[in-house]
Amino acid sequence: MGSLFEHRNCPNCGGNDFEVLFDSNIKRGDLQGGIDTVYMLPGDKYGRHVKCRKCHLVYVNPIEKANRINGNYSEMKNSAVSIVRRNRLRATKAQVELAKKYKGNTKLLDIGCGEGFFLFNASKAGYITKGVELSQNAVEYARREFGLDVEVGLFEKMQFPENYFDVVTLWQVLEHLSQPLTVLKEAQRVLKPGGLLAISTPDFGGIPARIMGKRWWNIRRIHINQFSTKTLKNILRNAGFKNLSSVNYKESISLLMLVIPLLKWFKAHKQVRVLLQPGSTRGRIMNNITLLYPSRLDNCVVIGFK
Ligand SMILES: [Zn+2]
Repeated sequence: MGSLFEHRNCPNCGGNDFEVLFDSNIKRGDLQGGIDTVYMLPGDKYGRHVKCRKCHLVYVNPIEKANRINGNYSEMKNSAVSIVRRNRLRATKAQVELAKKYKGNTKLLDIGCGEGFFLFNASKAGYITKGVELSQNAVEYARREFGLDVEVGLFEKMQFPENYFDVVTLWQVLEHLSQPLTVLKEAQRVLKPGGLLAISTPDFGGIPARIMGKRWWNIRRIHINQFSTKTLKNILRNAGFKNLSSVNYKESISLLMLVIPLLKWFKAHKQVRVLLQPGSTRGRIMNNITLLYPSRLDNCVVIGFK
């Protein structure tokens, strides 16, 4: 078991003095078979969560080895992509509107762009877009379905030119990264002076997280950093971003995505598979019923500038 995991220091301040919030429930067998759909299906497995005594960041320690994590993302397939497509296309429009309020019609980079739903809307809104994504499958989808300019691989290894992009976005990405500060520093480097960073990540300090504790839907094997707005702003400041502020946009969730965790809770895995099949009429109808809520209810959403 030991060789599959690695210890890490605090991914924000580099310290190694922490208190354990709760222990891992992952067993060796749980790590077989990689990961299927990253979003929408909350797992019931999680790593040991610790809190840095120096900077108060909550992070998973130890983590699965970084090359295993990256390998899993690279092979990941979103089996529900055709079911969630319409909903995600609608939902990501609010993120484009948020970015446009501060900086429109310029060069935009989306790190961890997935199937490109946000990027497709951004390009329709006038941005010149570029995407970076680890999942081969998602990249192929973004190119084939939307004709997007997306590169597969690790952003921090791509060496984009300095002072190049006007906008950099990371939507629900930071919680997955073994070295978030390295990625943020690189995002800051490729951003033009005065350029905009827009970022969202689940809020460990939010009301749902505090009520649900370990059963909060964002406590999952693949979430290895847990930010609050305070610790998120802290790491962004460390990466060199300025004028940070919390913002909000209209987030949406479909009825289907609310029902699936419930079915999983009741161990109705067969029903989950049926609902997520590409041809599922019931899945499609349930996914088209959308509930709007303020993003800040469950997420830290912060913008900053270089
Ligand atoms: Zn720390």
